[in-house]
Order: sequence, then structure tokens, then C-alpha cells
Amino acid sequence: MTTIPFAPLTNPAPAGGSSAESGKKSARTGETGEVTNDHCANLSLLLVDESATMEFAQQLAAQLQPGMVIYLRGDLGAGKTTLVRGVLNALGYAGRVKSPTYTLLEPYQVAGLDLRHFDLYRMNDEAEWESAGFRDEFDGHNIFFVEWPENARNLLPHADIEIKFEIIPQGRHVEALGHTMMGNACLKQL
Ligand code: ADP
Ligand code: MG
Repeated sequence: MTTIPFAPLTNPAPAGGSSAESGKKSARTGETGEVTNDHCANLSLLLVDESATMEFAQQLAAQLQPGMVIYLRGDLGAGKTTLVRGVLNALGYAGRVKSPTYTLLEPYQVAGLDLRHFDLYRMNDEAEWESAGFRDEFDGHNIFFVEWPENARNLLPHADIEIKFEIIPQGRHVEALGHTMMGNACLKQL
């Protein structure tokens, strides 16, 4: 992968460290059965251009598990939709991947997986969520990529992985944080 580990983390390191390296250590500790410090599978990457984002997406696609919930955070144009497009392409989806900015949700079925791509930038209230039947989508099987999760704060299940995109002069600084055993196990493989 041509992604470059990004040294200056934006978040201060918690006790035990939050660098990619210490994240791997904590995940390894998990493998021994001692689940300690299990929130720390973190990656910090510099993605220099769109193709680097697509390569990162390809790595991520190979580690997806049914039921996984991935929050995507970052400004407009930061690369959230590009990442989802890269994941779908890596899984073999040949159709067009459009941003669900107006529909809020685009469903995909590919490689035996059911993916749901939400873009909640334009979601206004909870009634919209209920009337669209989004609650039923969270069935423990579908895999979710959610842009602007903060707009449905109390409606969404917790994230297994949170990916934060920051626009910087060199491209994009991307941080991926594992929040569950499943999320940490996934990030550990990247
Ligand atoms: P978002 O969904 O976060 O609003 P998009 O994925 O729609 O953003 O758009 C991201 C834009 O940035 C696209 O024009 C894409 O080509 C570009 N891009 C994606 N990844 C990178 C990168 N690592 N470095 C520079 N530009 C990128
Ligand atoms: Mg988008």
C-alpha cells in the first residue's frame, strides 16, 4: 500500500498510547484472551491522492464482516464517498456509486455482502428516519458506511470503526479508530 503512516496524531495519546504501533500491541494482547485496552486499534495515515484512498479502501474491503458499522467523518470533499466507492469497486461492484446526498441511503449487494451507504448530511429529523424505515436496516447482517453520523446521533448503533478524514496540503490525513472487538480485529489487519 502506498499510504504513509502519519506521525502527528490529532488526538492526544491515552495511557498506553494511541499510535498505530501501540494499537497493534493492544490488539495482540486481545488475542491472548486478556482483553485490555481494547479501544486502541488506531491507524493514522497520509493518503497523498485519490488512488491512495482507493488502495486503503481495498485493504478495508478485504476485512469487512457482516454487521459492521463504520462512521465516516470529515468535511465536504474530504473523501468519505470516495472511500465507499473504493470499497465497492474492490468487492467487484461494477455499477456507478453515487453519493446518497438526497436519497440518504444507497443499498448494495456485492460479493455476498449487503452494504448500506448512508449520507445523512441532509437529514433533518427523527421522523424522516422512522418513515424511511431505516431502523429496520440495522439487522446485524448489513454492513454500514455512514457519512455525517452526527446528524442521527441517537438513532444509529455505535460504530465498530470510526474513520476521520482531514484535508491537508499533502492530501488527506486519515485516522481509523476501532471501538469494538470486531472493529479492532479489522484494523489490526490493515
Ligand atoms: P466527501 O464524501 O467526503 O464529501 P468525496 O469523496 O465526494 O468527499 O470527494 C473527495 C474529493 O477529494 C474527490 O474529488 C476525490 O478525487 C478527492 N480525493 C479523494 N481522496 C483524496 C486524497 N487522498 N488526496 C487528495 N484528494 C483526494
Ligand atoms: Mg460524500
